[in-house]
Amino acid sequence: MTDDPASLDPDDWDAFRAAAHDLLDSCIDRLAAAGDHPWQPVPDRVRAGYAVGPVAADAAALADRLRDEVLPYGTGNTHPQFFGWVHGTGLASGLLSEMVAATMNANCGGRDHGAVYMERAVVDWARGVFGMPAGASGLLVAGTSQATVIALAAARARALGPEVVARGMQGAPLVAYAGAGVHNAAQKALALLGIGAGALRRIPDGSAGIDTDVLRAAIARDRAAGLHPFAVIGTAGSVDLGRFDDLEALADLARDEDLWLHVDGAFGAWLAIAGEPWAGRVRGIGRADSLACDFHKWMYVPYDCGLVLIADETWHRAAFAARPSYLEGQARGLAGGDPWYCDYGVDLSRGNRALKVWTALTAYGQDRLGAAIAGNCARAADMAAAVEAAPHMALLAAVETNLCVFTADSRLPAEDQSALNRRIAQDLQLSGEAVFSTVEIGGVTGLRAAITNHRTRPQHIRDAVAAVLRARGD
Ligand SMILES: *Cc1c(COP(=O)(O)O)cnc(C)c1O
Repeated sequence: MTDDPASLDPDDWDAFRAAAHDLLDSCIDRLAAAGDHPWQPVPDRVRAGYAVGPVAADAAALADRLRDEVLPYGTGNTHPQFFGWVHGTGLASGLLSEMVAATMNANCGGRDHGAVYMERAVVDWARGVFGMPAGASGLLVAGTSQATVIALAAARARALGPEVVARGMQGAPLVAYAGAGVHNAAQKALALLGIGAGALRRIPDGSAGIDTDVLRAAIARDRAAGLHPFAVIGTAGSVDLGRFDDLEALADLARDEDLWLHVDGAFGAWLAIAGEPWAGRVRGIGRADSLACDFHKWMYVPYDCGLVLIADETWHRAAFAARPSYLEGQARGLAGGDPWYCDYGVDLSRGNRALKVWTALTAYGQDRLGAAIAGNCARAADMAAAVEAAPHMALLAAVETNLCVFTADSRLPAEDQSALNRRIAQDLQLSGEAVFSTVEIGGVTGLRAAITNHRTRPQHIRDAVAAVLRARGD
């Protein structure tokens, strides 16, 4: 027994140790047999049991509940035939990093301790991968959505001056531009910053992403109308089709037009480490003023973990640095250390996200992770080939990288194809055979496979396409 009844530490550490070891074994078993565990609906009985209620009798009882009632009911994105949405698929190294992170329970808002140095090391590594300038600042965040808010806040500070933080927008008519495939994270960020989701102009695609001639004309028109163009948002990997804007061309345009170039590279940015020809898709990414991307998608690390990089630290700090006196930095001791990450984003208290990235990079190395990414693109090509070989299935768009969108039966009228594809997606999710999502391309809602899954082998692709054919039911 502990002497202090208020302590929340276990009364019996040996019993806790035994229960924790057993649970760790269950977690390892689960991950080692990921192929046996597709998504499954949460049974009503289990769902009802989630209501906060009885306190577990001891550590073993708690571990039993975690193993039986929690562990089986995830998104199923660890399964090799999970292709729905751009989900990360997890890494065994995550088991280790999350265990250590929970033990340390470090607060990474600032100060002088190991987790802060580790975050700097991860940011430095990422800056090098993307070829951002040496002075670029960075921050690990919840995901690309949050990274986009931070990046566009810095862009707003550059456009309107640091005073915008105190004064607000005061009706400044800022306008931003993006391609047709831009993620709605951009609109959300513009809305949150008071710029307005309606201030985002969608520019149609030309031969390689955003048509820069149309974009230049739109900027000129907006300027003539008294508006204030301030940012262009390039997409490196669109969610619908995995398409890439020509980032060199956008960087040239941003320089000529004095706009801030923000790149949404949520998953696609990581083609930078996948070798040629893939790395060529993101050429020019290091010329961005800001970059938002995720470690939790195509770098496979556990949720949640994104990254924002800002080329000119001045604007990053201008948007966020404002420490009250109780957070004053000191020359020495725990309150030392600089920079403090709370000066670079929304959060003051923050977890140790860098650890799971560092652990993954230390476990696998950049090259192996890059090879897994290239392998995912190869699997998307395999899927395209299987679709084209299957009778009356058809691609709805050419496969460019890791996304494959197709229809199960091209003989039907568009509406019937859409209904069929939706039904098949649902049937295969429920049967556990494969997870596809759906997306509308050119008037047809198709089956969409986003392959960011390092467990997917060629046979899984063949099995999944065969399952679609069976589900078509002819
Ligand atoms: C997933 C995604 C986002 C949003 O990122 P989160 O990490 O989910 O917040 C933004 N843009 C693109 C292209 C994405 O794929």
